[in-house]
Amino acid sequence: MTTARTTIDFDKIGKQIGFVDIPHSPHEDAWGATRIPLAVISNGRGPTVILEAGNHGDEYEGPITLGELVRELDPGQVSGRIIFLPAVNTPAVDAGRRTSPVDGLNLNRTFPGDPGGTITQQISAYVSSVIMPLGDAFVDLHSGGSSLNILPSAIIEPAADPALRRRNIDAVLAFGAPLTVVIDNLGEPRTSTATAVRAGLVTIGTEMAGAGTVSLEALDICRRGVRNVLAHFGVLDGATASPPARPDAILHIPGHDGYVLATTAGVFEPFHPLGARVEAGQQAGRIHNLIDPSRTPEIVHYGASGIVYGRRQPGRVVAGNCCITVAAPYTGDIS
Ligand code: CA
Repeated sequence: MTTARTTIDFDKIGKQIGFVDIPHSPHEDAWGATRIPLAVISNGRGPTVILEAGNHGDEYEGPITLGELVRELDPGQVSGRIIFLPAVNTPAVDAGRRTSPVDGLNLNRTFPGDPGGTITQQISAYVSSVIMPLGDAFVDLHSGGSSLNILPSAIIEPAADPALRRRNIDAVLAFGAPLTVVIDNLGEPRTSTATAVRAGLVTIGTEMAGAGTVSLEALDICRRGVRNVLAHFGVLDGATASPPARPDAILHIPGHDGYVLATTAGVFEPFHPLGARVEAGQQAGRIHNLIDPSRTPEIVHYGASGIVYGRRQPGRVVAGNCCITVAAPYTGDIS
């Protein structure tokens, strides 16, 4: 049972901008709360779309886009209900960090959460047990964060149920990103999108550039994409949508082979830019030991053929860091 409280009445027509308070009792504040921003715009008949951003606190296009929509949309423009969680891991967003400074956790590895757990686990529990049951569709807006720069793309979370899979694919294609990629995070069940799919919600993800900055290109794609998705569900008028030409192919990250991991500590030199076509077995880059000039740099290789989809942003690596992610043509069932 959650001890969280919200000022929002989810059944009320109109626009409400408020918060969820999750009681928190640290040294500085015995009887206070961690306050999570929450907004609802509701009007007439139609589905409920949940828009989430700030799952990771160092990914900015999503929170910017949702803040704008909260301010700009009038209830009269909406058919149905939009629930906004524009900075869902608020302590991480405040800190500009992927993980929460309160408990060190990555929110997107805590779903479905624990109402009796740490603050981050309580946030995911609230989203899973209170917000998701209200929704027909769930959008989780990510970017690459401080450590990764990723080609702007809309993300399909795999679904076991063929009917839901088809609806997910249609909704993700409606987002209208330059790339559409199936990402299962190596089968990770603890993400918000995996949890939304298990709950039967039509689910859309994104990766909007990253590198800990705001990408003009990705922000434009994100702004248009969120409106396109809302129009796809009929929550906004179709006239507000501006879907670009659909991508001719859906990509996926082909499991462990899609990740080029550092084999030693040093500085990673990539051999190819984002978007380059590469082959399995080809040299991906090399890791320099800057302290010992007698040491030959260590070569790392691609494990899959495809395009360079994401790349590590900081030069420094230790063994196990993700240097490159390759996306390959998706050959799974999309019918
Ligand atoms: Ca992310």
